[in-house]
Amino acid sequence: MTMTQTAPITQDVLTIPRKMPEGPINLVGLTREQMREVLIAHGTPEKQARMRVGQIWQWIYQWGVRDFGEMTNLSKAFRAELAESFVIEIPEVVSKQVSEDGTRKYLVRINGGHEVEVVYIPEDSRGTLCISSQVGCTLTCSFCHTGTQKLVRNLTAGEIIGQVMMARDDLNEWPEQGARNVEGRLLSNIVLMGMGEPLYNFENVRDAMKIAMDAEGIQLSRRRITLSTSGVVPEIARTAQEIGCQLAISFHATTDEVRDRLVPINRKWNLEVLLEALRSYPKVSNSERITFEYVMLKGVNDSDADAHRLIRLIEGIPAKINLIPFNEWPGAPYERSSNNRIRAFADIIYNAGYASPVRTPRGEDIMAACGQLKSATERARKSRREIEADAGLGD
Ligand code: SAH
Ligand code: SF4
Repeated sequence: MTMTQTAPITQDVLTIPRKMPEGPINLVGLTREQMREVLIAHGTPEKQARMRVGQIWQWIYQWGVRDFGEMTNLSKAFRAELAESFVIEIPEVVSKQVSEDGTRKYLVRINGGHEVEVVYIPEDSRGTLCISSQVGCTLTCSFCHTGTQKLVRNLTAGEIIGQVMMARDDLNEWPEQGARNVEGRLLSNIVLMGMGEPLYNFENVRDAMKIAMDAEGIQLSRRRITLSTSGVVPEIARTAQEIGCQLAISFHATTDEVRDRLVPINRKWNLEVLLEALRSYPKVSNSERITFEYVMLKGVNDSDADAHRLIRLIEGIPAKINLIPFNEWPGAPYERSSNNRIRAFADIIYNAGYASPVRTPRGEDIMAACGQLKSATERARKSRREIEADAGLGD
């Protein structure tokens, strides 16, 4: 089968509608405009709607309130009306594991009973929440555990920002009303590096991250939010324009031949096309540099020649290279490069003038590391045919 005959990987088929026609509407995840519309549709006078949205956003996202009755700057009658038509709902925590190193891994349940994983990684000067954008993934990167799981569906914007709210609940980090302690937060950074390909769920990821960045929302600077993509080229420019967060790219190889095997989306958008899209990202998004993620796989992509090629390829792009020692999972077809090899590779990159931190695997004892996330309830493996179809290969 040629590429044109292959079913395209679409980003909206599996998204459930945000506004349920019947039953109470969840306010979590609605954009300002969407919330304004639903308030007006439920009787809020148009002139007041904008102000009400701001007030409700503050209660929900700044103070963590889930009960309309507690929204004391709204009239009692209005609070009662809200409670009749709306709910404030976030995913439910099914289980929580805490690693010896303090990393927390949560399994959360979303509507329909599916589960996704969320990981909180405390560090000295910051705390990073790794969130998911899809249940499973349509892509099939051969070193990634999530890639062996079928895509079940895209998460809604409410389910994406809901993961952040869930973690703030668990960290007990909702400020007292009025306090705005943005500095020194336990949850200070967000990375979209959990399950799923965020750029195949663009609108929902964008709307959720807008709430994360909004001054009346979660109030995190866009510099503290990093979106990681395997390389969905057509959406990269949109990410710069419509989200403006930091971008990380799952690069992982320095030749098309190897990248085709590791990150099959490369067969659709190869290194040249990808690098072209990346070149304009920092300027358009006004971000400083792009993070190149590079998983270290023994004997596959970890030679000195790879390191030199990598430097040549990214020349001219403001970049940081993040070396990730491969996190093994049962049945994985690769091994982690040795520490000496990783160090030698890092040295070459460092000597070329790039920051090249080696990512310390965190939460290894609870399988919380990058690429190990996979929900226990979604064990179905993709068939070979599906994998090939997903990668736009087919036969
Ligand atoms: N789908 C997005 C984001 C999720 S994966 C993407 O692919 O970028 C987050 C990062 O973990 C990616 O760089 C991914 O390539 C990497 N990763 C996946 N499996 C891994 C593994 N077993 N060991 C180390 N890194 C892995
Ligand atoms: Fe999907 Fe990212 Fe895993 Fe690739 S690395 S299968 S894109 S989650």
